[in-house]
Amino acid sequence: MRKAAEMICQAQKTVALTGAGISVESGIPDFRSAGGLWERFDPMEYGTIDAFRADPEKVWRMLREMSGVISRARPNPAHKGLARLQEMGLLHTIITQNIDNLHQEAGSTHVIEYHGNSRTLSCLRCDRQYRADDLTGDVPPKCACDNILKPDVVFFGEAIPTKPVRESHELASSCQVLLVVGTSATVSPANSIPQIARMAKAKIIEINIEPTVLTAHITDIFLQGKASEVVTGLVDEVERLMS
Ligand code: NAD
Repeated sequence: MRKAAEMICQAQKTVALTGAGISVESGIPDFRSAGGLWERFDPMEYGTIDAFRADPEKVWRMLREMSGVISRARPNPAHKGLARLQEMGLLHTIITQNIDNLHQEAGSTHVIEYHGNSRTLSCLRCDRQYRADDLTGDVPPKCACDNILKPDVVFFGEAIPTKPVRESHELASSCQVLLVVGTSATVSPANSIPQIARMAKAKIIEINIEPTVLTAHITDIFLQGKASEVVTGLVDEVERLMS
Protein backbone atom coordinates (compact mmCIF):
# COMPACT_ATOMS: atom_id res chain seq x y z
CA MET A 1 0.00 0.00 0.00
CA ARG A 2 2.82 2.33 0.93
CA LYS A 3 4.74 1.60 -2.28
CA ALA A 4 1.59 2.22 -4.35
CA ALA A 5 0.99 5.52 -2.54
CA GLU A 6 4.60 6.57 -3.19
CA MET A 7 4.20 5.80 -6.90
CA ILE A 8 1.11 8.01 -7.07
CA CYS A 9 2.81 10.86 -5.20
CA GLN A 10 5.86 10.73 -7.47
CA ALA A 11 4.06 10.34 -10.81
CA GLN A 12 3.49 13.33 -13.05
CA LYS A 13 0.35 11.73 -14.42
CA THR A 14 -1.78 9.04 -12.80
CA VAL A 15 -4.85 7.73 -14.62
CA ALA A 16 -7.52 5.37 -13.26
CA LEU A 17 -9.40 2.68 -15.18
CA THR A 18 -12.52 1.51 -13.38
CA GLY A 19 -15.03 -1.27 -14.01
CA ALA A 20 -18.26 -2.66 -12.63
CA GLY A 21 -16.50 -3.88 -9.44
CA ILE A 22 -16.10 -0.34 -8.10
CA SER A 23 -19.89 0.07 -8.05
CA VAL A 24 -20.77 -3.32 -6.53
CA GLU A 25 -20.67 -1.84 -3.00
CA SER A 26 -23.10 0.84 -4.21
CA GLY A 27 -25.58 -1.97 -4.95
CA ILE A 28 -25.04 -2.34 -8.72
CA PRO A 29 -24.12 -5.95 -9.48
CA ASP A 30 -21.17 -6.69 -11.77
CA PHE A 31 -21.39 -9.50 -14.32
CA ARG A 32 -20.10 -11.95 -11.73
CA SER A 33 -22.18 -11.14 -8.63
CA ALA A 34 -24.30 -14.06 -7.46
CA GLY A 35 -28.03 -13.49 -7.17
CA GLY A 36 -27.93 -10.25 -9.16
CA LEU A 37 -29.71 -8.92 -12.17
CA TRP A 38 -27.40 -10.76 -14.56
CA GLU A 39 -28.47 -14.19 -13.30
CA ARG A 40 -31.90 -13.52 -14.77
CA PHE A 41 -30.76 -11.51 -17.78
CA ASP A 42 -27.79 -13.08 -19.58
CA PRO A 43 -25.72 -10.08 -20.83
CA MET A 44 -24.99 -11.99 -24.05
CA GLU A 45 -28.72 -12.42 -24.67
CA TYR A 46 -29.95 -9.00 -23.50
CA GLY A 47 -26.89 -6.76 -23.88
CA THR A 48 -26.18 -7.01 -27.60
CA ILE A 49 -27.13 -4.46 -30.23
CA ASP A 50 -28.53 -7.29 -32.38
CA ALA A 51 -30.88 -8.28 -29.54
CA PHE A 52 -31.99 -4.65 -29.16
CA ARG A 53 -32.68 -4.25 -32.87
CA ALA A 54 -34.50 -7.59 -33.08
CA ASP A 55 -36.69 -7.16 -30.00
CA PRO A 56 -36.32 -3.79 -28.19
CA GLU A 57 -39.28 -4.48 -25.90
CA LYS A 58 -37.62 -7.63 -24.56
CA VAL A 59 -34.33 -5.80 -23.95
CA TRP A 60 -36.21 -2.95 -22.26
CA ARG A 61 -37.46 -5.41 -19.58
CA MET A 62 -33.80 -5.72 -18.51
CA LEU A 63 -33.04 -1.99 -19.03
CA ARG A 64 -36.00 -0.95 -16.87
CA GLU A 65 -34.72 -3.04 -13.94
CA MET A 66 -31.15 -1.85 -14.48
CA SER A 67 -32.13 1.81 -14.52
CA GLY A 68 -34.07 1.28 -11.26
CA VAL A 69 -30.95 -0.22 -9.64
CA ILE A 70 -28.73 2.59 -10.98
CA SER A 71 -31.09 5.39 -9.92
CA ARG A 72 -31.09 4.08 -6.32
CA ALA A 73 -27.28 3.75 -6.17
CA ARG A 74 -25.06 6.31 -4.47
CA PRO A 75 -21.27 6.74 -4.72
CA ASN A 76 -19.33 4.60 -2.21
CA PRO A 77 -15.98 5.37 -0.52
CA ALA A 78 -14.07 4.08 -3.57
CA HIS A 79 -15.70 6.64 -5.91
CA LYS A 80 -15.19 9.32 -3.25
CA GLY A 81 -11.54 8.32 -2.70
CA LEU A 82 -10.77 8.72 -6.41
CA ALA A 83 -12.56 12.09 -6.42
CA ARG A 84 -10.38 13.12 -3.44
CA LEU A 85 -7.23 12.13 -5.37
CA GLN A 86 -8.41 14.31 -8.26
CA GLU A 87 -9.08 17.18 -5.87
CA MET A 88 -5.52 16.81 -4.53
CA GLY A 89 -4.21 17.06 -8.11
CA LEU A 90 -2.87 13.49 -8.00
CA LEU A 91 -5.28 11.81 -10.40
CA HIS A 92 -5.52 13.23 -13.91
CA THR A 93 -8.51 11.36 -15.39
CA ILE A 94 -10.79 8.44 -14.63
CA ILE A 95 -11.56 6.20 -17.59
CA THR A 96 -14.64 4.27 -16.60
CA GLN A 97 -16.34 1.35 -18.29
CA ASN A 98 -19.37 2.01 -16.11
CA ILE A 99 -22.53 3.73 -17.23
CA ASP A 100 -23.82 4.62 -13.76
CA ASN A 101 -22.59 8.24 -13.37
CA LEU A 102 -21.30 7.50 -9.83
CA HIS A 103 -17.84 9.02 -10.39
CA GLN A 104 -19.42 12.33 -11.34
CA GLU A 105 -21.84 12.12 -8.40
CA ALA A 106 -18.84 11.61 -6.11
CA GLY A 107 -17.39 14.89 -7.40
CA SER A 108 -14.96 13.69 -10.07
CA THR A 109 -14.56 16.13 -12.92
CA HIS A 110 -12.33 14.47 -15.52
CA VAL A 111 -14.18 11.29 -16.40
CA ILE A 112 -14.11 9.47 -19.75
CA GLU A 113 -17.16 7.26 -20.17
CA TYR A 114 -15.81 4.54 -22.41
CA HIS A 115 -19.15 2.75 -22.72
CA GLY A 116 -21.42 5.80 -22.63
CA ASN A 117 -23.93 6.80 -19.96
CA SER A 118 -27.52 5.85 -19.20
CA ARG A 119 -28.57 9.48 -18.53
CA THR A 120 -29.54 10.08 -22.16
CA LEU A 121 -31.42 8.04 -24.77
CA SER A 122 -31.46 8.29 -28.55
CA CYS A 123 -33.67 7.27 -31.40
CA LEU A 124 -31.93 4.86 -33.78
CA ARG A 125 -34.26 6.00 -36.59
CA CYS A 126 -34.10 9.83 -36.45
CA ASP A 127 -31.15 10.43 -34.03
CA ARG A 128 -33.19 12.67 -31.72
CA GLN A 129 -31.76 12.63 -28.16
CA TYR A 130 -33.65 12.81 -24.84
CA ARG A 131 -32.63 13.14 -21.18
CA ALA A 132 -33.74 10.05 -19.25
CA ASP A 133 -35.07 12.30 -16.43
CA ASP A 134 -37.41 14.06 -18.86
CA LEU A 135 -39.03 10.80 -19.94
CA THR A 136 -41.74 9.67 -17.60
CA GLY A 137 -44.48 7.32 -18.61
CA ASP A 138 -44.10 4.87 -21.47
CA VAL A 139 -41.94 1.77 -21.03
CA PRO A 140 -40.28 1.24 -23.38
CA PRO A 141 -39.84 4.99 -23.92
CA LYS A 142 -40.61 6.21 -27.42
CA CYS A 143 -39.37 9.00 -29.66
CA ALA A 144 -41.72 11.62 -31.11
CA CYS A 145 -41.37 9.59 -34.35
CA ASP A 146 -42.81 6.56 -32.45
CA ASN A 147 -39.60 4.50 -32.58
CA ILE A 148 -38.40 2.85 -29.34
CA LEU A 149 -35.48 4.77 -27.77
CA LYS A 150 -32.14 3.22 -26.85
CA PRO A 151 -30.02 4.40 -23.90
CA ASP A 152 -26.72 5.98 -24.99
CA VAL A 153 -24.67 3.09 -23.67
CA VAL A 154 -22.47 0.89 -25.83
CA PHE A 155 -24.10 -2.50 -26.29
CA PHE A 156 -22.04 -5.62 -27.02
CA GLY A 157 -21.41 -5.66 -30.79
CA GLU A 158 -21.53 -1.84 -31.08
CA ALA A 159 -18.48 0.25 -31.92
CA ILE A 160 -17.07 2.46 -29.18
CA PRO A 161 -17.27 6.14 -30.20
CA THR A 162 -13.90 7.33 -31.50
CA LYS A 163 -13.38 10.20 -29.02
CA PRO A 164 -13.24 8.19 -25.75
CA VAL A 165 -11.08 5.53 -27.40
CA ARG A 166 -8.59 8.09 -28.75
CA GLU A 167 -8.43 10.05 -25.49
CA SER A 168 -8.09 6.92 -23.35
CA HIS A 169 -5.33 5.52 -25.49
CA GLU A 170 -3.45 8.82 -25.40
CA LEU A 171 -3.73 8.91 -21.61
CA ALA A 172 -2.65 5.27 -21.29
CA SER A 173 0.46 5.94 -23.37
CA SER A 174 1.41 9.08 -21.46
CA CYS A 175 0.74 8.23 -17.80
CA GLN A 176 3.34 7.00 -15.34
CA VAL A 177 0.83 5.17 -13.13
CA LEU A 178 -2.40 3.38 -14.11
CA LEU A 179 -4.70 2.55 -11.21
CA VAL A 180 -7.02 -0.29 -12.26
CA VAL A 181 -10.04 -0.74 -9.99
CA GLY A 182 -12.73 -3.43 -10.12
CA THR A 183 -12.48 -4.68 -13.67
CA SER A 184 -12.06 -8.24 -14.91
CA ALA A 185 -10.27 -6.75 -17.96
CA THR A 186 -12.08 -9.15 -20.27
CA VAL A 187 -14.23 -6.69 -22.23
CA SER A 188 -12.53 -5.52 -25.42
CA PRO A 189 -11.25 -2.97 -26.40
CA ALA A 190 -11.23 -1.38 -22.90
CA ASN A 191 -9.00 -4.21 -21.72
CA SER A 192 -6.23 -2.99 -24.04
CA ILE A 193 -5.74 0.12 -21.85
CA PRO A 194 -3.55 -1.62 -19.21
CA GLN A 195 -1.44 -3.21 -21.98
CA ILE A 196 -0.94 0.16 -23.69
CA ALA A 197 0.10 1.74 -20.37
CA ARG A 198 2.44 -1.15 -19.62
CA MET A 199 4.10 -0.89 -23.04
CA ALA A 200 4.65 2.83 -22.36
CA LYS A 201 6.41 1.80 -19.12
CA ALA A 202 3.71 2.95 -16.70
CA LYS A 203 3.41 1.21 -13.34
CA ILE A 204 0.16 -0.69 -12.97
CA ILE A 205 -1.56 -0.74 -9.56
CA GLU A 206 -4.52 -3.12 -9.51
CA ILE A 207 -7.31 -3.24 -6.91
CA ASN A 208 -9.69 -6.20 -7.03
CA ILE A 209 -11.23 -8.75 -4.68
CA GLU A 210 -9.56 -11.50 -6.73
CA PRO A 211 -6.72 -11.87 -9.24
CA THR A 212 -7.58 -11.17 -12.89
CA VAL A 213 -5.98 -11.81 -16.27
CA LEU A 214 -3.82 -8.74 -15.59
CA THR A 215 -2.49 -9.72 -12.18
CA ALA A 216 0.30 -12.15 -13.09
CA HIS A 217 1.82 -10.45 -16.15
CA ILE A 218 0.74 -6.80 -16.36
CA THR A 219 0.22 -5.64 -12.78
CA ASP A 220 3.13 -4.28 -10.71
CA ILE A 221 1.27 -3.97 -7.39
CA PHE A 222 -1.85 -6.01 -6.66
CA LEU A 223 -3.91 -4.74 -3.72
CA GLN A 224 -6.45 -7.45 -3.00
CA GLY A 225 -9.67 -6.42 -1.28
CA LYS A 226 -12.92 -4.52 -1.62
CA ALA A 227 -12.54 -1.31 -3.62
CA SER A 228 -14.08 0.85 -0.88
CA GLU A 229 -11.60 -0.37 1.75
CA VAL A 230 -8.49 -0.48 -0.42
CA VAL A 231 -9.05 2.88 -2.14
CA THR A 232 -9.74 4.53 1.24
CA GLY A 233 -6.53 3.01 2.67
CA LEU A 234 -4.53 4.10 -0.36
CA VAL A 235 -5.83 7.68 -0.25
CA ASP A 236 -5.12 7.85 3.52
CA GLU A 237 -1.55 6.70 2.82
CA VAL A 238 -1.17 9.31 0.04
CA GLU A 239 -2.44 12.03 2.40
CA ARG A 240 0.08 10.94 5.08
CA LEU A 241 2.92 11.10 2.54
CA MET A 242 1.80 14.54 1.31
CA SER A 243 1.40 16.08 4.79
P1 NAD B 1 -16.91 -7.46 -14.75
O1 NAD B 1 -18.28 -7.73 -14.20
O2 NAD B 1 -16.44 -8.28 -15.89
O3 NAD B 1 -15.83 -7.62 -13.58
C1 NAD B 1 -15.95 -6.97 -12.34
C2 NAD B 1 -14.65 -7.13 -11.58
O4 NAD B 1 -14.78 -6.44 -10.35
C3 NAD B 1 -14.29 -8.57 -11.26
O5 NAD B 1 -12.91 -8.79 -11.56
C4 NAD B 1 -14.54 -8.68 -9.75
O6 NAD B 1 -13.64 -9.57 -9.10
C5 NAD B 1 -14.30 -7.25 -9.29
N1 NAD B 1 -15.02 -6.86 -8.09
C6 NAD B 1 -16.28 -7.21 -7.71
N2 NAD B 1 -16.63 -6.62 -6.56
C7 NAD B 1 -15.55 -5.85 -6.20
C8 NAD B 1 -15.28 -5.00 -5.10
N3 NAD B 1 -16.18 -4.78 -4.12
N4 NAD B 1 -14.09 -4.38 -5.04
C9 NAD B 1 -13.15 -4.59 -6.02
N5 NAD B 1 -13.35 -5.39 -7.08
C10 NAD B 1 -14.53 -6.02 -7.17
O7 NAD B 1 -16.89 -5.91 -15.05
P2 NAD B 1 -16.05 -5.06 -16.12
O8 NAD B 1 -14.66 -5.56 -16.20
O9 NAD B 1 -16.30 -3.65 -15.80
O10 NAD B 1 -16.74 -5.43 -17.51
C11 NAD B 1 -18.15 -5.58 -17.65
C12 NAD B 1 -18.86 -4.63 -18.60
O11 NAD B 1 -20.23 -4.40 -18.16
C13 NAD B 1 -18.27 -3.26 -18.62
O12 NAD B 1 -18.50 -2.71 -19.86
C14 NAD B 1 -19.08 -2.52 -17.57
O13 NAD B 1 -19.13 -1.17 -17.80
C15 NAD B 1 -20.46 -3.09 -17.76
N6 NAD B 1 -21.20 -3.05 -16.47
C16 NAD B 1 -21.35 -1.82 -15.88
C17 NAD B 1 -21.96 -1.71 -14.65
C18 NAD B 1 -22.07 -0.32 -14.03
O14 NAD B 1 -22.19 0.68 -14.76
N7 NAD B 1 -21.99 -0.21 -12.70
C19 NAD B 1 -22.46 -2.84 -14.00
C20 NAD B 1 -22.32 -4.11 -14.66
C21 NAD B 1 -21.68 -4.19 -15.90
